[in-house]
Amino acid sequence: MLSNSLAELDRRHLIHPVSSFRGHEQRGVRILTGGQGATVTDSEGRSLIDGFAGLWCVNAGYGHESIVEAAAEQMRKLPYATGYFDLGAEAPIRLAAALAERAPGDLNHVYFTLGGSDAVDSTIRFIRYYWHAKGQPGRDQFISVANGYHGSTTMGAGLTALPGFHDGFGVPYDWQHKISSHYLYRNPLGSDPQVVTDASVAELRAKIEAIGPDRVAAFYVEPIQGSGGVLVPPQGWVKAMRDLCAEYGVLFVADEVITGFGRTGPLFACQDEGIVPDLMTTAKGLTSGYVPMGAVLMRDHVYETIADGAGAKAVGHGFTYSAHPVSAAVALEVLALYEGGLLENGRRAGARLQAGLESLRDHPLVGDVRGRGMLAAVELVVDKDAKTPLPPEVQPATRLFDRAWEQGLVVRSFAQGIFGYAPPLCCTDEQIDQIVARTRKVLDLTL
Ligand code: PLP
Repeated sequence: MLSNSLAELDRRHLIHPVSSFRGHEQRGVRILTGGQGATVTDSEGRSLIDGFAGLWCVNAGYGHESIVEAAAEQMRKLPYATGYFDLGAEAPIRLAAALAERAPGDLNHVYFTLGGSDAVDSTIRFIRYYWHAKGQPGRDQFISVANGYHGSTTMGAGLTALPGFHDGFGVPYDWQHKISSHYLYRNPLGSDPQVVTDASVAELRAKIEAIGPDRVAAFYVEPIQGSGGVLVPPQGWVKAMRDLCAEYGVLFVADEVITGFGRTGPLFACQDEGIVPDLMTTAKGLTSGYVPMGAVLMRDHVYETIADGAGAKAVGHGFTYSAHPVSAAVALEVLALYEGGLLENGRRAGARLQAGLESLRDHPLVGDVRGRGMLAAVELVVDKDAKTPLPPEVQPATRLFDRAWEQGLVVRSFAQGIFGYAPPLCCTDEQIDQIVARTRKVLDLTL
């Protein structure tokens, strides 16, 4: 009864992000009521394994009292302090220092946002400021990768390269350019890592030359493309792209909103790639989803250029809730949990997840399995040789999602017939095995 009336209120008043408004009105809402560890409960009393950590964010898992206590203590002491002008509070300062210490290379300067989209948007503004400060204001063109996702602010949505975020919104703008995705499973050049990497390097070089090397401001990369369907680049691809940017003096931005904070094994995926980006964006696992927060990390040379360029003037970019002390206190506690065993557990559970999902390759519907650590995807096809995707009218993503839900499993079901996995790092072996077993059950029901 309670959930019925809630469902009706939801239908009437709540606009859901990235949903078909009309489709949602028909289907209604699924309401979550609680969570503990890697499991959540819904309003119908089901217990589900959250194979997607909310929205790739609850890396630490649900129900950590120490995180709740960190937030409560900060709220009691000082619920808000602006970071504007010369003001500040202890928690964001300590968090900035902790991130700088752990991030690769000289990514020593941290700007806090409320999430990933505004972190990406902030990089666009900082990068423009940087090139103005360097006396090259004509460097105002941005390049990203097809199938990439970089949030949905007005400017960031144009770096995002998924049509659903453009159609009807008038983005991307003419200063936003794309190169093809590596997408190994469906790359027309095949799946040879070197061939694919060489082709991407050649394409980015040609794009920079076509735009004009003195016009290109920055290139954006997700170390693993998340919302595009968990697309893992070949080993060495990220480094090759980073090196090419260095050759042209183009700023290289690693968007680690999903891959950061243990999702792929190390604290940051860039550490696996052995690269130092000029700027890095993070969010999600930073606070493990308990409260909103994102962060932009910038290298010394980016910070120094902006600082010298501005001189005594204020750099006019800020949000009321930048460096929110409650979010920072939560992030500090989450970081302590990661380093107190969660990262290690995530690495162990991640190896089990990858091996478990690999074992699904014998299923007639499984065309591809890919991933790294606690980030993975299973791509479904109706014909393995022809790699024919599931026809959306026959198996819409919502139906696959519903079927998994009924089996007690939350996964992301992408429209192309791809299941995405990003479970909390605290998963037990048994929970990982259940994720795999429940997926097989869903596939059997889908045959
Ligand atoms: N960048 C990447 C790589 C993301 O995956 C996301 C969100 O999924 C964003 C940016 C946007 O983050 P947010 O949803 O916190 O605004």
